[in-house]
Amino acid sequence: MAEVTLDEIVSLAKRRGFIFPGSDIYGGLSGTWDYGPLGIMLKRNLINLWWKFFIDQRDDIYPMDAAILMNSKVWQASGHVETFTDPLVECQICHARFRADKIDLGKCPSCGQKDTFREPQNFNLMFKTNIGPTSEDASSLVYLRPETAQGIFTNFKNVVDTFYPSIPFGIGQSGKAFRNEISPRDFIFRSREFEQLEIEYFINPKDWQKNFDMWLQLIREWCQLLGLSSDMIVEHEIDQADRAHYSKRTVDFEFKFPIGQEELLGLAYRTDFDLKNIERVSKKSMIYHPKDGSEPFVPHVIEPSFGVERAIMAILSSAYQTDKVNDENRIFLKLPNYLAPYLVVVSPLVKNKVELLDKAQVVFRLLKAEFGAVMWDDNGNIGKRYRRADEIGVPYCITIDFDTLDNDTVTIRDRDTTEQRRVAISELISQIAII
Ligand code: ATP
Repeated sequence: MAEVTLDEIVSLAKRRGFIFPGSDIYGGLSGTWDYGPLGIMLKRNLINLWWKFFIDQRDDIYPMDAAILMNSKVWQASGHVETFTDPLVECQICHARFRADKIDLGKCPSCGQKDTFREPQNFNLMFKTNIGPTSEDASSLVYLRPETAQGIFTNFKNVVDTFYPSIPFGIGQSGKAFRNEISPRDFIFRSREFEQLEIEYFINPKDWQKNFDMWLQLIREWCQLLGLSSDMIVEHEIDQADRAHYSKRTVDFEFKFPIGQEELLGLAYRTDFDLKNIERVSKKSMIYHPKDGSEPFVPHVIEPSFGVERAIMAILSSAYQTDKVNDENRIFLKLPNYLAPYLVVVSPLVKNKVELLDKAQVVFRLLKAEFGAVMWDDNGNIGKRYRRADEIGVPYCITIDFDTLDNDTVTIRDRDTTEQRRVAISELISQIAII
């Protein structure tokens, strides 16, 4: 398991402005989290990386962005209204409610009394609301989407008709999903509002094994890009009995989180279940006509489904490191440069020397124009600034000192080794690597 504890991550996230409990000022709202400045920078870097790796660098995946609110028929056709449920139990003594498959039913985790649960009830996880100024009846009922995938399936025909892609091809979408989880827990791991990165990869069923293997490999590469070492990841082949009835193969990628080994992301071969459901309910054909004139068919689908929150939790727990520098304990986040919220921090050695401040501002502006994610810090002594930068994972600290005024060089300090070297300002940009 990761050596860092969940408490250490939650505390760092709050203390340094990555992630705050949602609506904290009014006592919170269970299962919701707010991203602070550093958290949203990390999250954006992660989503951009996903976009670059799975969309920009490939020529077979199209992006899209569907509405969160969709016609209720979407969720009837997909089976969510009927079956997107978790088993709910309520303690007859203290009335606390739990997800039956996540606790020992012999003893209530809240009041400790024995044998207080009745038979589990199915609890639907979709949030409901009403659309328009009409009365709140069944005709105005809409759901907040519990996954981004259905926004892709319902646009399958639109993409085929406008882009004429050759199979295999994929459609990817990043966006919010909402689930009224019975027991949100473990920081952002199980939230009620979270973000997904999903791709539906449409294939000819005869090629499913080859394509599934390709996706297994792509996901392994993706985990490496996130800085997650392979010994922290377990590929869990889901048995037929535990798979969704329509899935012919599902592999969950589990990560050794501080809370234990849990699902990080999933890869599922969903056959033609979703497109066939849409055909059945919409009465519109989802048949794909291959360009080579071969037999038309309803495509099957392979779905790599990633959750942003779980990825962030895995990234933070992998990156969290401690060591001793000059006999002082240090916490540092060993984030890949392309994920770090700030790439560089620029500091004048002292604050009360105008020439140093001016020169440091010139360097700051130069780097900010190039990299964007550059931070300014002139608070406290330089040692403290380095510690603060290490704790939020800034890969490079640049200090403008008295020598800078003489020879136009600065020191550049490496977060992981803490080593410093002198570099000419004219060389600085080429010395700072994003990758
Ligand atoms: P679990 O079994 O843990 O409830 P799931 O199998 O229902 O998860 P999927 O429906 O496969 O999850 O969702 C795809 C991905 O979305 C998951 O791999 C996970 O990364 C993310 N995810 C799902 N539910 C949540 C949640 N409540 N909070 C944060 N991320 C989630």
